Amino acid sequence: MRHLVSLSFDFDAMSGFVSRGLETPTAISRGEFGAVAVPRVLGLLERYGIAASWFIPGTVIGTYPKVAEAIAAGGHEIGHHGWTHTPPAQLSREQEAEGLARGNEAIERLSGQKARGYRSPSWDLSPHTVELLLEQGFVYDSSMMGDDHTPYRARQGDVVPDGEPMGFGAETTLIEMPISWSLDDHPHFEFFRTAEAVMPGLRPAGGVLENWVDDFVYMQRIAQWGLLTYTCHPYVIGRGHRMMMLERLIEALLEKGAGFVTLEQGAAEYRQRLERGEA
Ligand SMILES: [Zn+2]
Repeated sequence: MRHLVSLSFDFDAMSGFVSRGLETPTAISRGEFGAVAVPRVLGLLERYGIAASWFIPGTVIGTYPKVAEAIAAGGHEIGHHGWTHTPPAQLSREQEAEGLARGNEAIERLSGQKARGYRSPSWDLSPHTVELLLEQGFVYDSSMMGDDHTPYRARQGDVVPDGEPMGFGAETTLIEMPISWSLDDHPHFEFFRTAEAVMPGLRPAGGVLENWVDDFVYMQRIAQWGLLTYTCHPYVIGRGHRMMMLERLIEALLEKGAGFVTLEQGAAEYRQRLERGEA
């Protein structure tokens, strides 16, 4: 029995607001709080000796070089989160390929190596993403929701015909480390108003904590091996009551016997299981 968790942090700062056209001083300042919160998160992770996976857009590495350096210096994995925060589904193939390469240059300058993992801004891949990730040497993606605590091989060339059954494409060597909006701090906590909708957020942290712990407990019940990925954003999780929740989450997971790994480590372990025929 082996039950793993990955704590992942998307350090978006203001890039997510900018990509939605929200560039007024107050919108920018919401993202700016992320840079205030990063040291809080790094301090907490250090106290528990946990290495996490951090996904950072290239523009944010350029905006906050010192903060990004502190993340890398903490021994954490640095993953790719786009050059800007525009989701690939809204980019041309050329723009997407260029953004992957440019973001990777920034990550290589920061950490000494290109990213092994990719997480799409706003979790919306294009039909080209899997192919481009493989072309550019990525090992895993963490943007899809086709499973909960079991990684799987990403497909390429799915066909979604109008009014007919799905046609699944071939499995590739890219490992998918699945995620979920329910294990993401953003929709639970962040109040967001656009011209079309209001996302209320602002839920009590205790309820979210209970959900997040129970997903781990359920994995222990039904799986011999599994990996659950939690996704947080410094500007969201960095508020006092949510930092208390994150600490309680770590305590609860440790108490229940969770092993903490980076997504890169988790993907490597899953690949070994595949090769041994255990997955
Ligand atoms: Zn993001």
